[in-house]
Amino acid sequence: MNLHEYQGKTILASFGVGIQRGIVAQTPEEAVAAAKKLTEDTGTGWHVIKAQVHAGGRGKGGGVKLAKNLEDVKRIAGEIIGMNLVTPQTSAAGKKVHQVLVAEDVYYPGASETAEFYVSVLLNRATGRNMIMYSTEGGMDIETVAEHTPHLIFTEEIDPSVGLMPFQARKIAFNLGLSGTAFKEMTQFITKLYRAFVESDSSLFEINPVLKTSDDKIIAVDAKVTLDDNALFRRAEYASWRDEREEDPTEVEAKAVGLNYVTLEGNVGCMVNGAGLAMATMDLIKMAGGAPANFLDVGGTADAKRVEQAFRIILKDEQVKAILINIFGGIVRCDRVAQGVVDAYKNMGDSINVPIIVRLQGTNAVEAKALLDASGLAVHAAVQFQEAADKVKEVLQA
Ligand code: GDP
Ligand code: MN
Repeated sequence: MNLHEYQGKTILASFGVGIQRGIVAQTPEEAVAAAKKLTEDTGTGWHVIKAQVHAGGRGKGGGVKLAKNLEDVKRIAGEIIGMNLVTPQTSAAGKKVHQVLVAEDVYYPGASETAEFYVSVLLNRATGRNMIMYSTEGGMDIETVAEHTPHLIFTEEIDPSVGLMPFQARKIAFNLGLSGTAFKEMTQFITKLYRAFVESDSSLFEINPVLKTSDDKIIAVDAKVTLDDNALFRRAEYASWRDEREEDPTEVEAKAVGLNYVTLEGNVGCMVNGAGLAMATMDLIKMAGGAPANFLDVGGTADAKRVEQAFRIILKDEQVKAILINIFGGIVRCDRVAQGVVDAYKNMGDSINVPIIVRLQGTNAVEAKALLDASGLAVHAAVQFQEAADKVKEVLQA
């Protein structure tokens, strides 16, 4: 589950990690009140108004702006709230902004220069260990740094049996070119950040930029936090922060009825039981010259009601030109699934307007095929994988 910047910063602050302080606002009036409160609490005169959407690159899209007085705050908040923010990380349609974070300006002049760094914490899947990835090239997108100056990206892997060691935090601060107060601040920042990552059950922290202020404080100016969905059951407060407005509406609907569904870009809808078989089915569709429109795992109970829910969700996507149902009958019997398909089809009448290819294998597969063949519906029944693939190819070419 992804979080908004302000939510991510709330987690960081709760573990004592230094952050650019801010208050979230839904309206320009709330933004002004937030700015006044921040001035009282922090002494800041200038504020940054930051669009809260689940996408990075907001600055480039005009979603992060500096306000030098309260009139600016009101005007800029009014411009950003309600806008369709297009950034390098959104689709061309952009994302609607519902709220802004009013934050203290932290790029103030002072005794020394400010500096921007990149720090992330994530799992290295190759080694099964957490790692801290960091760079002196903060403030720009890390993919560009990785492409043009990969030698400026460093990683530090953490041994889970001992956790982050003090020498590792020092090494990071050293490699970032820091000394004196800023060096000490950075080692504390890294130590607390890593603890926050582990104890919040996160799967990604990306802090870009981490700022060294002109008075040598180290703070998170931005925060991209992804929580581990499998641990949300024990993080009730974080779970309650879910903002469904930021998620794919079809995926939200599928989740509500207990289907594992992910929207993709192709033209063949799939309905499969089991994640592994669903992946294999997507490969099969590719090999047949199509492209999967979705990933959908109906889980263990493929009865008429579930099949119907799955049909409805798949058919919301106008790209879908055919649907491939690939079910392995282990515990669930194929003839019952076939009956489910027939019943769902009859229930839905005209709303199924694309060819359906059903491949059922396992317990009672032959009976299932007979049932589908006898139904008189526009359903192509197959028992073998290859047969199903050939059928997909045939209907896509028709
Ligand atoms: P992103 O564009 O979505 O990654 O949003 P960020 O939170 O990283 O902000 C984008 C940029 O806005 C940062 O890289 C900074 O250069 C700038 N910015 C953020 N906070 C401040 C601030 O307090 N003062 C000023 N002057 N600029 C800021
Ligand atoms: Mn950023």
